[in-house]
Amino acid sequence: MQTYNKETLYSKIFFSTVVAIGITDLQGYYSIVNPAWCQCLGYTAEEAKKLTVLDVTPQEDRESSDLNYTRLIKREIPAMRIARRYLCKDGSIIWADLHATAITDDEDKVIGLLGVFVNIDPRVRAETNLQTLNAQLTQANIELQIALDKLKKMARHDSLTKLYNRHVLEETMEREIKRSIRKQRGLGVAIADIDNFKQINDSYGHDYGDKVLVELSKLLCRKVRATDIVGRWGGEEFLFVFPETSCQGAMIVVERIRKATENMKLNFKGKPVKLTLSLGMSFQEKNIERASIVNEADQALYRAKRDGKNRAYCYQQL
Ligand code: GH3
Ligand code: MG
Ligand code: MG
Repeated sequence: MQTYNKETLYSKIFFSTVVAIGITDLQGYYSIVNPAWCQCLGYTAEEAKKLTVLDVTPQEDRESSDLNYTRLIKREIPAMRIARRYLCKDGSIIWADLHATAITDDEDKVIGLLGVFVNIDPRVRAETNLQTLNAQLTQANIELQIALDKLKKMARHDSLTKLYNRHVLEETMEREIKRSIRKQRGLGVAIADIDNFKQINDSYGHDYGDKVLVELSKLLCRKVRATDIVGRWGGEEFLFVFPETSCQGAMIVVERIRKATENMKLNFKGKPVKLTLSLGMSFQEKNIERASIVNEADQALYRAKRDGKNRAYCYQQL
């Protein structure tokens, strides 16, 4: 077996390795550093001799570095592996993976420390960048979700009255028709149309007309039951779906809405404004069909208008 001169071998390793090696005395002064150490921190081996560990440690890490140094020197711990930062000659800071251990003489007395480290700065920076990117991505995702929720709400609600829009009402009717058929119970649909609304616009202006639509919408929401659905069907028309009720039950709600509207306290510049609604309701029990139930409600509404407005009719009782 080949024999090596250990000193020559160790010397070769010390000078040629890419791992930075620094040996310090008890006061922390560098007595020996290898070329990799010099390359990492930017000092020559001669310059290093005038430096202590603290000189190559960023200000904010000096206290903890000093503490670790003392613990190793006092042999409170046998060795230490730690990711730490080094302050280079040009003022830059790098991350390193350091292994430090105490060096002893022949009598086992501690005479200094051996520090061996590799530069892990590119890796740490990449990880930090990734974390920042991840955080930005999470934030962007949250903002996107909020925007999406807003968009969804906008797609389902009328912008003026905040009631469900026609598209949602159509969807709701389809869903409730299926459910009613499955549960073998009837379904009521009503349409309300403001009486002489054109006159309100003409007399008090379009903005006031808008205000009336908003106020009336709030009232309609208050007057329907939790299981009923109300939405804006068109300009000054509203549609109601009554899924869990009888024909009489739906008519009670419809009549309650008519009365409440008639009793609404509206005024323009202190003068009272009269507002009434005409309503038409249809209740189908078998073969419920969207187009026909809406058409029947419309016919009942038409009759209510024709008979003098401010009244609620049921198609099945015409
Ligand atoms: P009727 O009793 O027969 O229903 O009479 P009406 O005047 O209510 O009916 P008509 O269809 O003649 O007019 C409806 C009016 O509703 C006309 C239109 O300008 C108004 N309107 C529709 N949408 C809005 C809106 O969003 N804001 C305002 N201010 N007015 C609206
Ligand atoms: Mg109308
Ligand atoms: Mg009208």
